[in-house]
Formats: sequence, structure tokens, C-alpha cells
Amino acid sequence: MSKDTNEPPALPQRCSFCGKPYGQVKRLFSGHNSFICNECVVLCSDLLQSAPDYEKVDEIHDVPRPADIKNYLDQYVIGQEEAKRTVSVAVYNHYKRINYKFKSRAKGKLNGEVDDVDLEKSNILLLGPTGTGKTLIARTLARFLKVPFTIADATVLTEAGYVGEDVENILVRLFQASNFNPHKTERGIIYIDELDKISRKDGNPSITRDVSGEGVQQGLLKILEGTVSNIPPKGGRKHPEQAFVQIDTTNILFICGGAFDGLEKIIARRLGSKVVGFEAKKTHIDDKAAEIYDHVIPADLIEYGLIPELVGRVPVAAALRPLNNEAMLKILTDPKNALTKQYAKLMEMEGVKLTFEPEALIKAVEIAVEKKTGARALRSIFERAMLNVMFDIPSQPEIAEVIITAETITGSKEPKMITHAEKKKAG
Ligand code: ADP
Repeated sequence: MSKDTNEPPALPQRCSFCGKPYGQVKRLFSGHNSFICNECVVLCSDLLQSAPDYEKVDEIHDVPRPADIKNYLDQYVIGQEEAKRTVSVAVYNHYKRINYKFKSRAKGKLNGEVDDVDLEKSNILLLGPTGTGKTLIARTLARFLKVPFTIADATVLTEAGYVGEDVENILVRLFQASNFNPHKTERGIIYIDELDKISRKDGNPSITRDVSGEGVQQGLLKILEGTVSNIPPKGGRKHPEQAFVQIDTTNILFICGGAFDGLEKIIARRLGSKVVGFEAKKTHIDDKAAEIYDHVIPADLIEYGLIPELVGRVPVAAALRPLNNEAMLKILTDPKNALTKQYAKLMEMEGVKLTFEPEALIKAVEIAVEKKTGARALRSIFERAMLNVMFDIPSQPEIAEVIITAETITGSKEPKMITHAEKKKAG
């Protein structure tokens, strides 16, 4: 028979954090109705040391104006005027919105009233061919705003529980990029590449894995719209006995990008049919037109295979144009960190003047255009062409100047080299 007493039942002697019982751990410290084991004490101590006194970031002072943001982007990103303007406005509004929320919360605390205007987050969708500057825009923005930044490839993401990368791992990487500061993480920017590749493909069912991409879209949706995620503080896979750091994604800005091949046909078809039905004159926008993506509406993206909820969470869409030869040439010489400037700097450090003949640049652009990967191919073309020079120059102190010709770019001839003696003779 059980005894009826007023005494509280004895607490089971196990760590209230990891659950290990007395006997399985070296020490078990008791507190007010709870216990903590030596292992959890060490873990907490580690955590405190890895993130000492997180710098709290609430209000963002001096939110740069759209024109300031665009000016900065102009120094690194060639062309793409519309995309740069759209992104500048969206980013400005994003940080204004964070400040507004912060201020109205502070005011509410003082006066007991809460502001009822709810400014919604506007994540950004960048559409356009590969190698045209989508990632570059996102990365440059983050650098300008001095916020943590990370890139995730949507194609490697899988639904939780499947082999592959959990959607939450993206947050882990942002957390690492913020030097393990949760407050900074919550103000960061995440670029999600290849969003188009996880679109729903009808008629492709699979029993073992959700190849349709819908599950991944659902996972992304959760962090895009704002959720509190528990992430392992040091990254890696989640472990049941690990302490977690909570990250609220409400104020994280997501920039999604994708080439969306085939979307042009959906847009053109819609524009065409609408025009036939309501207007006498047909607008001449076919699916080959460079500006076709400017006309994208949410319905097109849904037809393409994105789930409507996700489309709703990326309300700002900006189209990037394919880069023509002229833009590619500018990319080689104009940006602050243009390739030619980078190589010239490297050579300057060796005391050598590096010159590119205009024909060399034109040749490089021609080869890059053939590869159809936008400006992406330029770097590898130059890396190959410059390899011998970079190898030889450090051991040839007599060289004063190197001139890269079109033949150097194609690999058929070494660059022209001028020695100090030759230079002196020439006056
Ligand atoms: P994607 O559009 O596929 O994201 P990226 O932004 O990664 O392409 O571009 C690849 C590289 O090509 C960049 O690192 C940059 O060097 C160059 N590049 C592409 N587009 C531009 C551009 N509009 N202006 C300057 N550089 C560019």
C-alpha cells in the first residue's frame, strides 16, 4: 500500500540538461529542484568562452540611403542598372523596417502601446543567366552593410531527415560568418543560389526521396518567413545532447537567385495571350528579348514550379541581363577589384609593370562569351594565361615590364618582356 504523505516526491537524480543519471557522470551538482552534471558545466563554459558577451545590435544607425547603396554597387557590379536600383531600395527598406520594429517596441515598452502597422519583410529574387552578377550583388551588399553573409546552394538542400544538407545548416554557416554572434546572425544576408533547380517538376514521382523539390521549398519557406531555429553552436550535425543556440530568422534578409531557364517562354506566352484578348495591338516581346524577365509576375514563377507561399515570400524580383561583349570588357578593367587591376597589383609587388594590350582583353572576352557562362569564365582564362608569368617573374629580377598580348591569352605565344636594360636604352 502506498503511503500518503505531504512530502514532495524525491527528484530522480539525473542531469536536468542532458538527462544522464547519477553514476553515469563524474559529478552531479544539485540546485533548486534540478541537477547539472560536470559535462554540461564544461559545455556551458565552452559556450560562454566561444561567444563572450555578444555585442548586442539593435538599432542600425545611419542606414545608408538607396543612392548610397547603388553607388557602392556601381564600383563593383557593371551594368544591371535595374537590378541594382531595385535591390538598393529593398535593402534600404529592410533595414528601415528593422529599426522601425525596434523603435516601436521600445516605445511600446514605455507607453504601453503597440504600433499596429506591421511592416513585412521583403526578401529579394534575382533572375538572370549564370555569371551575370547575382551572387556578386548579394556579396557586395553584405560587405557594404558590414553584415554577415553566406551562400547556400538550393540544390544540395534536402528535407530534414534525408541525407544531404538540412535547411537549418544555412543558418549555422551564417552564424559562423558572424563569428558566433547570434545577434549579428539575425541581421545577416543569406544568398540562396539555384532556387530554380528546386522547382516542382510534375510527373517525376519518387518513393524514396522528394525529388520534386517541394519539400525543400517548404523547408526554405519556414526560414524565409521567420522562425526561431535551434542550431548547434559549433556547426555540424545536430546532436541530441548538444546545447543549441536560438536564431530568429525574422530579420535575416534572403536574396534568392536563379537562371530560371524556360521561364521566358511562360512570360512570353502570358504576355502574348493577354494582348490578344484585350488589346488590338500586339506588343512585340518574344522569349528571346533581353528584357523579357522584367515582365515576370508571381503567377509565372508558380507556373514554373515554385510553391505559391514561397513566391509570396520573395516579393521583390529583379532581372539581370545577359552581359554583352562591351560589358564583359568593362568587367575586366572597371570594377575596383577588376581582374586586370588585381594582376597588375601582384606584378607591382614584384617591381614589374604589367600591361594588357586591348586586343588581349577583346580575345579573352571572345573566348568567355563562347563558354556561355557569363563573366564567370574570365577568371580561369586569365589564370591560365598568366600562369607562366606568375611562375617566372619572381626569379627574373631583370624584367621591368610584361605585356600581355592576344596570343598570350590563346596560349600560342609568351608575353612580351622588357628588361630594365632595354628600357634604359629606349630612354
Ligand atoms: P551569378 O549571376 O551566376 O551569381 P556571379 O555573380 O557569381 O554570377 O558572377 C561570377 C563572377 O563574374 C563574379 O565573381 C564577377 O567576377 C564576375 N561578374 C559577373 N557579373 C558581373 C558584373 N555585372 N559586373 C562585374 N563582375 C561580374
